Amino acid sequence: MSLIVQKFGGSSVANADRVRNVARIVTETYRRGHSVVVVLSAQGDTTDDLIAKAREINPKASKREMDMLLSTGEQISIALCAMAIEGMGYQVVSLTGWQAGMLTNSAYGGARIKRIRTERIQRELDKRKIVLVAGFQGINKYDDITTLGRGGSDTSAVALAACLHADLCQIYTDVDGVYTADPRKVKGAYKLEEITFDEMLELASLGAQVLHNRSVEMAKRYNVNLEVLSSFSGVPGTKVKEVVKTMEKSHVSGVAKDKDVARIALIGLADEPGIAFKVFSLLARGRINVDIILQSIGRSESKDISFTVARGDMEQAQALLEKNRDTLGFNSIEVNDQVAKVSVVGAGMVNNSGVAAKMFEALFSAGININMISTSEIKISVLVDERDADRAVQAVHDRFFSEFGSGN
Ligand code: ASP
Ligand code: MG
Repeated sequence: MSLIVQKFGGSSVANADRVRNVARIVTETYRRGHSVVVVLSAQGDTTDDLIAKAREINPKASKREMDMLLSTGEQISIALCAMAIEGMGYQVVSLTGWQAGMLTNSAYGGARIKRIRTERIQRELDKRKIVLVAGFQGINKYDDITTLGRGGSDTSAVALAACLHADLCQIYTDVDGVYTADPRKVKGAYKLEEITFDEMLELASLGAQVLHNRSVEMAKRYNVNLEVLSSFSGVPGTKVKEVVKTMEKSHVSGVAKDKDVARIALIGLADEPGIAFKVFSLLARGRINVDIILQSIGRSESKDISFTVARGDMEQAQALLEKNRDTLGFNSIEVNDQVAKVSVVGAGMVNNSGVAAKMFEALFSAGININMISTSEIKISVLVDERDADRAVQAVHDRFFSEFGSGN
């Protein structure tokens, strides 16, 4: 007998039928002889609706009271689902984050899990009960309710799986796994059987929002076996783990697009030591994250530095640089938010030469100009014009995945 943690997202519990569907999946797992701990999100758009309600009353509500309010969404889900499971004749108990021993730090609205006191859950499991836990919430040292930040239920589930030493943590959502690219937009995108934690982290940060990033980081740290699957289709999903079978032969797992980027170029900087340090320490002090950096070769004593930031940071970064124009000594500054980042991700890439060339060839054949390039052990990213981004993803995906079915 093994212990399985199953997490269901908001769309999987959106209405009565879907709650009953979840109850069926859970009880089937239980009937196969497993201990089952279930983590639920709030139904459908409940969390957004609650935020809207709060704004109506007080747009500046304190984070503490926001958490008090938002945590109710998950509580509704676990109670309703417990009732459905009861109705099917099984022993079940629903627990809030507090009852489940989910201890967090004090950061309302974005709390971190510190520790889980699992005694209560363990006692219920020993009685052979199905245990339902409200996701996204915990309590802090003041005994106040906290929430973990949007999408935090994934993290609740992985944390529980880690602390309970679960054999598997299944994340049920409305997509049936992790794809080689966004299947709604890219022709020929197909579901991956397995993917590594590192690849998953890259893909999530690149906009393939299947799993909450923090949950993947935590799964990697505690080596929790994850599976992403659909609560609707009943077919096997994608396994997320440290090392995957196909790592040797397959060097690319996915192609992703990130539109949340803007490019800033500083033109005519002095070609002398310390300039990059000045520019980027200034931005760091302004808490602006920089991603791709490109510096031109110095010519006639001057050089250019361009880099990318999140779109939301562009104006602030620009203002900060303008303000320090004299100290930095550049001629002009150019900003552009009509750009997008397209990346290929693959843990096996390091052992394979030619991945970059293949990507560039695909872009060249599609007549797409590359503005910037950056590479890491498991990722190659290019910056292109936003209007070319979808075509770029398709071209690169075709090049890596279409030829031989499973690509590479
Ligand atoms: N209900 C919360 C949200 O919508 C937490 C979650 O769904 O994971 O962000
Ligand atoms: Mg939700």
